[in-house]
Amino acid sequence: MRSEVVMTNPTGIYIDGRWLAGGSEIDNINPSDISDLIGRYGQATGDQLDEALAAARKAQPLWWAAGVQKRHDVLMAIGNELMARAEEIGRIVSREEGKPLAEGKGEVYRAGQFFTYFAAEALRLHGDLAESVRPGIEIDVRREPVGVVAIVSPWNFPVATPAWKIAPALAFGNAVVWKPANLTPASAVALTEIIAKQDIPAGVFNLVTGPGRAVGQRLVESAGVDAISFTGSVPVGRGIAAAAVANMTKVQMEMGSKNPMLVMDDADLELAVAHATNAAFGGTGQKCTAASRLIVHEKIHDAFVEKLVAAAKALKVGHALEDGTQIGPVVSDTQLSQNLDYVQAGKAEGAELLCGGERLNRSTEGYFMSPAVFVGTRNDMRINREEMFAPITCVIKAGSYAEALSIANDSEFGLTAGIMTRSLSRASHFRANMRAGCVMVNLPTAGTDYHVPFGGRGASSFGPREQGRYAAEFYTTVKTAYVAAGAPE
Ligand code: NDP
Repeated sequence: MRSEVVMTNPTGIYIDGRWLAGGSEIDNINPSDISDLIGRYGQATGDQLDEALAAARKAQPLWWAAGVQKRHDVLMAIGNELMARAEEIGRIVSREEGKPLAEGKGEVYRAGQFFTYFAAEALRLHGDLAESVRPGIEIDVRREPVGVVAIVSPWNFPVATPAWKIAPALAFGNAVVWKPANLTPASAVALTEIIAKQDIPAGVFNLVTGPGRAVGQRLVESAGVDAISFTGSVPVGRGIAAAAVANMTKVQMEMGSKNPMLVMDDADLELAVAHATNAAFGGTGQKCTAASRLIVHEKIHDAFVEKLVAAAKALKVGHALEDGTQIGPVVSDTQLSQNLDYVQAGKAEGAELLCGGERLNRSTEGYFMSPAVFVGTRNDMRINREEMFAPITCVIKAGSYAEALSIANDSEFGLTAGIMTRSLSRASHFRANMRAGCVMVNLPTAGTDYHVPFGGRGASSFGPREQGRYAAEFYTTVKTAYVAAGAPE
């Protein structure tokens, strides 16, 4: 069934090459200033989602047949436009997600780099040749698109995360149905407008904004999807994995984390404090790569804590678009309440709150929170077990490197992990023995490149890695061809 109302202004729903009105609408509110209504965005209906899936199914072979040069050119154009408009679109990201403008702009520029990187990867879709064990037979192994890819993305990187999924999906000839987070529809529309400008078959790319529990759920349960790429929370991820298995749908998931940063007694203390502050509180702590467990050697514990608390207190918390702001608001009222509950939970379990952890008032009404540092924490406390996604970091004292590593590895998660040390042997041992997808030596736990794989172990990730050339594993399927040419006549 075709949806009736075709919009001239983008609404949040883009299906089969047309912007559509949804069945209902939601308000998009600026978390730095809740009196600022960014806009009203459509919520896709079940019928519209089915329409998107049907359009994607029809368009995908046309996109694959368009060839690698075409796909390269389209991705390059999208990437270049994102980079050229990084400031303008970054402002939208900052306004609706709450990260400071420099971070919003940086995110959009990075999203552009994902597209230009995967533009080139489209050209590098190489296969393999093999000798057959049977004489007279030739074998080749080629990569083909997986088909229709469902993308479900979160609000914390509302342009970069979908970009690192959409770019490889399109590069390798797939069609996309994207369900963005409902907290960040304006960023989704901005990215979709750029994709929609391209000369691509209608239906290759579709945006279906709507509630996760309705539109998202229906999307991941659909048999019309060949692969699902998800980033978000562990409980939702587990539900998606179960739905995917029921349909034998390929699945890739990036979920929670509890990233440790080890600060050893031989570390450069100033650098350790700078990296810990950046990794714990950057993006208001709402990063899957945030350093939430700081495991500090007892010999430098007190000196490190003193400097960390001073650095946390000095951070300027404020409106994301105001000059000088270093930490923006928390994304939503719900997230703020959850954060404040974690502060209470930490205190109730006996951790000592040295600074922050309070709601702040600013000239505009928003979800501002002061960066919190807990000390005297144990690794079995809730604040050290559960992903908080908050500007809260917990210091755990360790008597030795071996103890620190053991604490770091004692988690269901394993996304990123860092060590601050001047010892090559400790750094090398950590690289080899830390159970995590990404390890950082003398660097913050947050901050990764766009051309190498990203992902974790344990409950942090499931399925093939994202990003870099490893992305081909998820976004393509291989076909092995056996050819008996026979003797010439
Ligand atoms: P969710 O996992 O609920 O949301 C992520 C995405 O999944 C959103 O697009 C959401 O839609 C969608 N979704 C929600 N429910 C379903 C469902 N049943 N089926 C399919 N899709 C669904 O995370 P939240 O945004 O609610 O954040 C909650 C917590 O998750 C955070 O506090 C944080 O701990 C964690 N999180 C972790 C991230 C990471 O990168 N590690 C990223 C974001 C969150 P909608 O927005 O409409 O709900």
